[in-house]
Amino acid sequence: MGGDPVGDGVPEAAWQRAVELIARADEVALACHVSPDGDALGSMLATAFVLRSLGKRVVASFGDRTFEVPRLLGFLPGQEMLSPPQDYPAAPELMITFDSASASRLGLLGANAAAARELIVVDHHPSCQGFGTLGLIAPKAAATAMIAEQLIYRLGGALDRDIATCLYAGLVTDTGSFRHSSTSPAAHEMAARLVATGLRTDEIARELWDRSPFGYLKVLAAALDRVTLEDGLVWTYVTRVDRAAYGLPYSELEGVIDIVRRADEAEVAVVCKEDDEGAWQVSTRSKGAVDVGAVCTAMGGGGHHNAAGFTSHDGVEKTMARFRELLGKV
Ligand code: AMP
Ligand code: MN
Ligand code: MN
Repeated sequence: MGGDPVGDGVPEAAWQRAVELIARADEVALACHVSPDGDALGSMLATAFVLRSLGKRVVASFGDRTFEVPRLLGFLPGQEMLSPPQDYPAAPELMITFDSASASRLGLLGANAAAARELIVVDHHPSCQGFGTLGLIAPKAAATAMIAEQLIYRLGGALDRDIATCLYAGLVTDTGSFRHSSTSPAAHEMAARLVATGLRTDEIARELWDRSPFGYLKVLAAALDRVTLEDGLVWTYVTRVDRAAYGLPYSELEGVIDIVRRADEAEVAVVCKEDDEGAWQVSTRSKGAVDVGAVCTAMGGGGHHNAAGFTSHDGVEKTMARFRELLGKV
């Protein structure tokens, strides 16, 4: 393969060190960010398959208080390799994190990461500080799955249909199905390699974007009913009471931002989503002129230039007031 498909982020020495650390480990503990998306879970499961085939004991988890794979990602193969954070080694010999720009994004597993002897951070967020003992960090990669694919090859692994399905879920999630500006030639080249394994792009697309429980339509209606446009900002919110009426899990709200951000009049879109614990998970999107990653980092979260988020324990009004204020400053 010519060039460096994940951009200039990962030095050769880091790849070599990662391969060495993995080669000498009997057990590898994998983790991805809380409320996992396709990139986080897909990258982790793909790597888990390969490590298992290399004869490693593999632990794979994410640190949500309620340990549940989002319905949306229920089609990903390899879920039997997942275990709840309560069963995770307290101080892993070797831990690898996926798609997590900071230890705080690991939720309950943050403590395990802090106690790990070696911690490899596989990530593509510009805000990633490289909190581990070794970083495989490529801010130009469209998805963590692109870095995971390279790691798999360097470990001597090969793609099969299951591994490719996991990686593809990551690639299409983070590129918005090859629509976002992060969609590089390398992203399409990777897709070609993945699709060549025989995976079903039609079935994956349907699972990820084209189905929901009926209640989603009602909750979406409520969110759109109160959508507000003000000065280039379009925003709305969804409460847990909205969801409770239809038994709709929090993870079903991922797509709301993609509808809200359509508004031509707005440069920035925001959806505040109340989770089951009453915290506000805020999704933000920019069309390019504004760096929402910078705003969200200032709000204590993080992300990319055009897609970012943060968590707030204030109410919607206070949260939005602070967001507007910071938005005016970037
Ligand atoms: P989302 O709006 O949940 O799709 O998230 C968009 C991007 O923002 C993700 O890729 C994450 O990198 C980042 N992000 C979302 N929520 C948070 C958070 N609470 N803290 C840090 N980064 C976040
Ligand atoms: Mn993610
Ligand atoms: Mn990602």
